[in-house]
Amino acid sequence: MTEIPDDHPRHDSLVTRHRIEDGVDDGITSRQGLIAQGRGEAYDYLLGEETIPSADAAERAAAAQLLTADHPVVSVNGNVAALVPDALVALAAATGADLAVNLFNRTEERVERIADHLREHGASGVLGTKADARIPGLDHERATVDSDGIYDADVVLVPLEDGDRAAALAEMGKTELVIDLNPLSRSAQAASVPIIDNVVRAVPNITAHARDLSEADNDAREECIQEFDREAALRAAEERIRGGVSGGA
Ligand code: ATP
Repeated sequence: MTEIPDDHPRHDSLVTRHRIEDGVDDGITSRQGLIAQGRGEAYDYLLGEETIPSADAAERAAAAQLLTADHPVVSVNGNVAALVPDALVALAAATGADLAVNLFNRTEERVERIADHLREHGASGVLGTKADARIPGLDHERATVDSDGIYDADVVLVPLEDGDRAAALAEMGKTELVIDLNPLSRSAQAASVPIIDNVVRAVPNITAHARDLSEADNDAREECIQEFDREAALRAAEERIRGGVSGGA
């Protein structure tokens, strides 16, 4: 990987780009993943490349949801696997969630590569390779999931999900936690908890909140879930994007 000096003003953004490039070279990330990354970067630039307060509140609510779920699952696609493999493993450990590979452009080979990649980063029991269930209302490969993974989950965290699939998962009655830098995307709009932040910042921050909340009592977790206002979070992010730092948070 190309060395990027630590003091480069766009250091984090450039490191992220190289991780996605490497993901494509290694057969983990799809070529469409490059386009998704570009779209995400544009929104992140407008958000100020920071976790705004409403996103932090969403990340805390997401942590509370994962901790109180019967069967929490974190959906992993090629972008997330390339960007934050260690952080995904830490999140699963902190919340008791399963990691399930879930691809829009699904091939057996890419699923296996991502599962191997996660295992190399310390994951155990990665789901998503059985492909023995389907999300109702979707056609063909993009409906394919594991019966004991996403299909069975009551709470599912989906970073960078396609809008149709996000809507179909919500239709199944799941509590859906979506990480997406675009507050207007159909995925963010379909979410119970829309997290308008970069996965690179969001996943470690959900883990930090989960560690904190796992020491709190059930009432504190429940309060965190009840107090979260999804409409306000979407509005705050859109205001920040349209108005800049003084526009809203
Ligand atoms: P819609 O949800 O409206 O149907 P889409 O499925 O067409 O949109 P894609 O083109 O697949 O969206 O883009 C993926 C989405 O992921 C974009 O909304 C983009 O902002 C978001 N995204 C890309 N990279 C990141 C990232 N690192 N962190 C968070 N979100 C990201």
